[in-house]
Amino acid sequence: MDKREVLKKYFGYDTFRQGQELLTDSILKGRDVLGIMPTGAGKSVCYQVPALMLPGVTVVVSPLISLMKDQVQTLNQAGIHAAYINSSLTEGQIAKALQFAAEGRYKIIYVAPERLETASFLRFARSVKISLLAIDEAHCISQWGQDFRPSYLKIVRFVEGLPVRPVLGAFTATATEAVKEDIICVLGLKDPEILVTGFDRKNLYFGVETPARKDDFLVRFVREHRAESGIIYCATRKNVEQVHELLCREGFPAARYHAGLGLEERRESQDAFLYDVKPVMVATNAFGMGIDKSNVRYVIHYNMPQSMENYYQEAGRAGRDGQAAECILLYSPKDVMVNRFLIENKEQNGDDFTWEELKAARDREEERLRVMIGYCNTADCLRNYILRYFGEVVQGDCGSCSNCGREYREEDMSREAAQVISCVREQGGRYGVNVVAGTLLGRNTARLREYRADEVSSFGVLGGMGESGVKKLIQKLLQEGVLRQTPDKYALLKLTPLSAEVTEGKRQILVRIPVQDKAGAGTQRAGRSRGKSAGSRRTDILNSRGLDCFEALRALRAEIARQENVPPYIVFSDRTLTDMCIRQPFTREEMLQVSGVGEHKYEKYGERFAEKLREITGGVKRKYCFE
Ligand code: ADP
Ligand code: ZN
Repeated sequence: MDKREVLKKYFGYDTFRQGQELLTDSILKGRDVLGIMPTGAGKSVCYQVPALMLPGVTVVVSPLISLMKDQVQTLNQAGIHAAYINSSLTEGQIAKALQFAAEGRYKIIYVAPERLETASFLRFARSVKISLLAIDEAHCISQWGQDFRPSYLKIVRFVEGLPVRPVLGAFTATATEAVKEDIICVLGLKDPEILVTGFDRKNLYFGVETPARKDDFLVRFVREHRAESGIIYCATRKNVEQVHELLCREGFPAARYHAGLGLEERRESQDAFLYDVKPVMVATNAFGMGIDKSNVRYVIHYNMPQSMENYYQEAGRAGRDGQAAECILLYSPKDVMVNRFLIENKEQNGDDFTWEELKAARDREEERLRVMIGYCNTADCLRNYILRYFGEVVQGDCGSCSNCGREYREEDMSREAAQVISCVREQGGRYGVNVVAGTLLGRNTARLREYRADEVSSFGVLGGMGESGVKKLIQKLLQEGVLRQTPDKYALLKLTPLSAEVTEGKRQILVRIPVQDKAGAGTQRAGRSRGKSAGSRRTDILNSRGLDCFEALRALRAEIARQENVPPYIVFSDRTLTDMCIRQPFTREEMLQVSGVGEHKYEKYGERFAEKLREITGGVKRKYCFE
């Protein structure tokens, strides 16, 4: 079988996605690879297809127990023999799995990095031919990143101890240049084929909202998305409890998850979510690593996260099936304080690091937080803001984020900007945003009096702009590099070489001001002002009878999932069901045309879905979609 046949037969897909083919080919040729691809891009296919074609076994190192289980279930569903070995199994089960593995019963074996150096695993590893070692979440090997895991260093020793070096494939969704270098160097990748696909997730809509009452916004949003699956991230356990209670009180089927809950309870809520028994999950960021649920239709951040990396990773759990999904961040300036508190009180193992290292780490976190604050305050295209941060060159606004959806007028604020700069200069760059803004606004507070802010000439000159106006302007100046902040927790405002250009009238500062409607606060998005749609929403593709058909197929899927004891999306993704509604396959041939229906899945479920479709349509193909 060639790679395309494998892709079709086992995974049910007709074509490789951008990049998958390149990496698959390289691995098959025996060359190491490094794939940097965003969540949902389809990294697993890159090593699973070669795994099925290479003579020996493929070992996949993955840090996340829940992810392994999910992946192995998915593979088993597709008719591929795979197993995992991690601490969720008993020693007896591990011994059994390794015995089967040694007998060659599995093509793919997932393993936690801690396991690599155990005697039993080593014995197995030396007794079989390992063709490929795939390293998932490869950024965990880098001390530069935020997810450094010392256990990843075991991989290097493991490879060195093997009789024959396998091909190495490293995969990650997050990699700055420094992390990338680290992965290559520490893992010792040999002349790897490196693929960096765009970080853009076109099917995701990005929004920042500053509602007067977050709870009202949330309840309305969840109500509008009833029957859909979503995750609501909160900053603290207490928030999780409150929001969870709110949603339950309103009658929504919501689960909750945070580190304060017992292991059993966490597992239960996770399963309730995965199996769509409780499709809404309220959680801290402890939840989600390794969650592969493909039909998450929205991710709401009830609080601002601590970094863009965190945000993009968490928001990225929406829409993994490629269908339209929404990522909304609910911002209030209070979130900034909460985050500062969390950063300052973060547990740092003081014995392992010098004071300088700790300070450098904290400064990096401060810097990350500032980027996040910028995201919440910018009036520019949100998607471009994100992509630029991850080092991509962007062109034009995206048309499907809340900023692109809002109406703005552009105002020349060069004069006001010059006043901000004079204020910073007059105060000698000794203060942060709050004091500078307070000075410009002419506030009469004890703190400002103590700093003698009322003695500088710019005291009160921007009094008419209001606090949020002045702060937004300062954010804009930071974004444009006209001002900068010191990279420590004081975040003092300082001048830059560009500052003078503004005061000398050589650089214009244009600020976008949202055109306020009657509702006022600029939070009127619920009425779908999404502009050009990001990706395809089911409701945009299927007409009302098509949506009924989808619901019927969804019910069948739920029934099968219950019988098989797997999450519904592992039976078929939402995308596959949508495709079935459009094509209405009645025969085997037609069914195999559907995206996501491979031979094995067809044998297992195909006929039941075809029968349901014949029943719904009366055996005649109908028009269930708009096009
Ligand atoms: P990642 O690990 O990069 O986050 P996954 O490997 O989980 O992404 O894949 C994301 C989704 O895309 C899965 O539902 C997967 O089945 C689907 N997918 C992967 N490759 C293809 C393809 N070539 N065609 C269609 N769907 C694909
Ligand atoms: Zn945009």
